[in-house]
This record gives sequence, structure tokens and C-alpha cells, in this order.
Amino acid sequence: RDPEVKKPAWLRQRAVQGEKYARLRESLGELKLNTVCVEAQCPNIGECWNGGSGAGGEGDGIATATIMLLGDTCTRGCRFCAVKTSNKPPAPDALEPLKTAMAVASWGVDYVVLTSVDRDDLPDGGSGHLLKQSELSSFIPYRTLELKPGILVECLTSDFRGDLDAVSSLANSGLDGYAHNIETVKSLQRIVRDPRAGYDQSLAVLKHAKISKAGMVTKSSIMLGLGETDEEVKQAMADLRAVDVDILTLGQYLQPTERHLTVRGYVTPEKLDFWKEYGESLGFLYVASGPLVRSSYRAGELFA
Ligand code: SF4
Ligand code: SF4
Repeated sequence: RDPEVKKPAWLRQRAVQGEKYARLRESLGELKLNTVCVEAQCPNIGECWNGGSGAGGEGDGIATATIMLLGDTCTRGCRFCAVKTSNKPPAPDALEPLKTAMAVASWGVDYVVLTSVDRDDLPDGGSGHLLKQSELSSFIPYRTLELKPGILVECLTSDFRGDLDAVSSLANSGLDGYAHNIETVKSLQRIVRDPRAGYDQSLAVLKHAKISKAGMVTKSSIMLGLGETDEEVKQAMADLRAVDVDILTLGQYLQPTERHLTVRGYVTPEKLDFWKEYGESLGFLYVASGPLVRSSYRAGELFA
């Protein structure tokens, strides 16, 4: 951490507890399923898993969890991300989709975000070909929908290295929301994200998800505090609106370990409120903007 930049009081978190949280934790452990919530050391885990009460106990809001498919090890190495990385992760567990579906149904959550690590190592031309239609049907646990018909499913996807057919297949696979993160402003892409990712490629993914299916709700996310200027944030928002993105989340970047990018500045809650107002004036249906807001932060409530 840059010693010059001290973590402000508004970023302190209470210890996580709560019955729903404990239940999810146990179930995930038994089934050996992964969540971004745990792997990325997300600070909102108490709030999201308990249904919106904050870390102190259960809430009556919509409980959200972000399931990470294809294992816990990513082939990419984004410099902000705490997920484990390797060029050759273990082979995916063929039973993972079924186990995930059963688990989600048993938790009784109303909203689930499905995401995955990036697996550039897999055959079929790498990640760009990973999600062909036939593979999608085993990748996405449609069974979740049968086991709990009212559940809403959002998918937070990779860029599939620009394979727009994979995006289209996924958008038409029964999802309620399609999310893909640009993560940061244009000028910082190469510093922050793995070189295989990119600003224009990500905008193309979002554009294609939107036009692939009538009524598809799309969402993206930007981390702040990485050295971006206000003008660059405004431009990123305008670029997202230009491809009809509906929902935007903005939150403070926090350095997960010493090996990751340092925080360049802490954005005040007031400034984050300003960004919410500014974003909504551009036509986003909803902007979630706060110090600890993450891509899937209380995601169910954004769609409710
Ligand atoms: Fe993390 Fe980047 Fe891999 Fe996503 S693609 S899991 S952000 S390292
Ligand atoms: Fe999990 Fe997303 Fe909530 Fe973090 S913000 S706890 S990753 S659902």
C-alpha cells in the first residue's frame, strides 16, 4: 500500500456474521464450490449473503451470491484481482454446474450471479471459443431455473477474447441480466487488466449482449482510485451509454495484497454520490456508487 495514501474511516468493515451467511459458507465448503465473494476477498460478503442488513446479521433484502465456475484459478493476471492465477489450472469439474444448481436451489436465494475465471488454457481455440452453444448448456446451470423457477440469474462474463458468438449464445441462454466489466478508464486498461483484455473489446461485448436479445439488461463496473481523472470517468460513462448499458456500478479500488496495484487515491462518499447523480443524468437506469460497491453488490436489488 502506498504509505502516503491512508485508508479512510468510511472503508472500515465490521466482522461478518449472520445465519444466512453461515449457511452459505457451510454449503459451499461441503460442495467445494467457489464464489467471487470469498476468492476476491470482497468486503461486502456479510451484507450480500445476509440479504442487505450489513455485516451484523440477517436482512430482509434479496440475498445475492456470486458463484465462480470453472474452478478457483484464472489463466489471466489482472493487477487488481485477488483470484489465484496459473497458466495451467486443474481441469474443470464436470459436475460443477449440477452441484451449483442444487446448492443455489437449496439456499433459497432469489438472485444469483454466475461468473467464471478466465480459462485461456482450454481447447477450442482458447477462451474465445469456450462458450459455444453446446458447451454453454452444461456451463450455465439452467437446472437452477427449474429447481427454483422464480430465481433471477445474472451472468458476469469474460470477454471471451472478443468472440461475439459466445456472447450471443450466452445472452440467449435464459439469463435475466448480462454483466461485463470494463473495470477502469481507457488510459489505464493496460496497467490494470491482463493484456488479453481491452476497453474496446469489452465495449463490443456489452454492445453485442444488448443487441443479441430483446429486453436484455446489461451492466458494467468501474473501479475508482487507480489514478483516473474525472474527465476519463465521464468519458467511460459516455462510452458505456453509447452501447446502451443499463446499470453501472462504481466503487473504490482496494489493494488486496502487497503484490497488487497500489491505491492512488480514496474517493469520498460525496464524490461517489456525485457520480451516481451524474451517471443517472446520462440515462443509466440505475447507478450504484459507493466506497464498497462492487460489480455484484446487492445485485438482486438493482433488478428488483
Ligand atoms: Fe481476476 Fe482478471 Fe481472472 Fe477476472 S480475468 S478472475 S479479474 S485475474
Ligand atoms: Fe459477492 Fe458481489 Fe456481494 Fe462482493 S459484492 S459479496 S462479490 S455478491
